[in-house]
Amino acid sequence: MSFQSLGLVAALVSAATERGYATPTPIQTAAIPAILQGSDVLGSAQTGSGKTAAFSLPMLQRLAAGQADPHPSGSRRVRALVLVPTRELAAQVGEAIRALAQHLPQPMRIAIVFGGVSINPQMMGLRGGADIVVATPGRLLDLVAHNALKLSSVSTLVLDEADRLFDLGFAEELGNILALLPVRRQNLLFSATFPPAIQTLADKLLQDPVRIEVQGEPGTEPDIVQRVIEVDANRRTQLLRHLIKESKWERVLVFVATQHAAQTVAEKLYKNGIYAVPFHGDIAQGTRTDILSQFKDSRWDVVVATDLAARGLDIVDLPVVVNYDLPRSTVDYTHRIGRTGRAGESGLAISFVTAATEPHFRLIEKRQGLSLPRERIEGFEPVETAPEAVPQGNGGVKGARPSKKDKLRAAAAGAIKPD
Ligand code: AMP
Repeated sequence: MSFQSLGLVAALVSAATERGYATPTPIQTAAIPAILQGSDVLGSAQTGSGKTAAFSLPMLQRLAAGQADPHPSGSRRVRALVLVPTRELAAQVGEAIRALAQHLPQPMRIAIVFGGVSINPQMMGLRGGADIVVATPGRLLDLVAHNALKLSSVSTLVLDEADRLFDLGFAEELGNILALLPVRRQNLLFSATFPPAIQTLADKLLQDPVRIEVQGEPGTEPDIVQRVIEVDANRRTQLLRHLIKESKWERVLVFVATQHAAQTVAEKLYKNGIYAVPFHGDIAQGTRTDILSQFKDSRWDVVVATDLAARGLDIVDLPVVVNYDLPRSTVDYTHRIGRTGRAGESGLAISFVTAATEPHFRLIEKRQGLSLPRERIEGFEPVETAPEAVPQGNGGVKGARPSKKDKLRAAAAGAIKPD
C-alpha cells in the first residue's frame, strides 16, 4: 500500500515521503480515502498511530482542490478548524500540517493559535483569513470575541484528542465553538478513549461516520516493555539517578504528581550532574516550547513533568518513560507510557511502586488487563510497610467493615496527591 494509491496528489505524497513516511499506517490507510470522499470520520486511535497525517493529508487535498473559490480579501474567514486540547499539541500539529502542505502549488495559510502568549501577533496573522486554524478552544473564542476571525465558513472541523478536551474542562468552550460553525461541514473526531461524554458528542456531531478503530490491531501495538520497581518513597530520586547512570539512558521523561515535585526532583538530579529540567503548567509557554525542542535535540537528559506532558507530545526516539509518581487515572497510565515506543520504535516504561501506592498500581493493572512482575534493585530494596487503610464512605457505620475496594481507594487517595 502506498500513499499514492490512497488517492493523494503528488505534492502531498512527496511531502509525506520527505518526512520519512514510507508506507501509510493502518489509520492512514483507512482514514485518507474516507476523508477524501467527504465522509465524517470517527477515529479511535492510540497515540503514535499516525493520526495527524491521517486527517491532515486528505484535508489539505480537499482544501487545495477548493482553492479556486473566490476569497473575499480581509474576510477573516477560516476554511478548516483543528481543535486540540493543549498548546504543545497545537504547535506540534500545526507544524506537521505546515510541513505536509509545503509542496502544494498554492501556499496554504495555516495559523496556530493558543493561549499563554500575546494575542496580538495571532490577530495580525489572521488578517485576510486562514485556510487552516489549529487552535486550543479558549484562545480561539478570544480571537472570535476580538473579531479576528469568523467561523461561519468552516467546511472541515477536526477534534483531535477529544477525550482530553473534555478532561481539561473544555466542554463548554466546545459547545460555544460548535454553535458558531455552519451546519454543512465535514467532521473528523479522534479520541483515544470513548467515555459516555465523547460518545454523546460523536452521536450529535457526526453524520453517518466511517468508524476507524486501530487499537489492538496486530502490528500496530507499540513495542513498550513495562517494568515495575518496588522502592521506598524517599529513595526514588536516588534510584532514578542510579538507573539513569547504570543504564546510560540518554533521554528520559519522568512523570511526577505535582509541580512542586517536578521542581524538586529536577533540581536534585541537576545537582548530581544529570541535565534535568522541570516541565509543568506554571512554566511560561515560551520556556516550555524551548525545553521540548532542546529535549528533542538531546540538550536535556531528563524532563521531569506533570501530566501536562502525558498526551499528544511526540518526542521521536524517546526510549524511556518513568512513573516516579503513579498517574491518578488508569487512562493516564496508557497516555504516559505511550510517549515512548512511538512510530514503530521500541520503548521502556518503568513505574516506581511504594508500599503506599501498591494498591493503586494494582487498580491500574486490573483496569488495563495487566499483571506485571515486581522487581527490586540491589541496594534499593524497600523497607517501608503500607500505611493503615482509612475506610471511606462507611467509616461511621457501626459494624460495617470497609470493603476491599474501599481500602484500595483509601490507600490510593492517601498516596496520590493532586497536581
Ligand atoms: P501521531 O500519531 O500523528 O502523533 O504520529 C506519531 C508519529 O508517527 C509521528 O512522529 C509521525 O511523524 C510518525 N508517522 C506518521 N505517519 C507515519 C508513517 N506513515 N510512517 C512512519 N511514521 C509516521
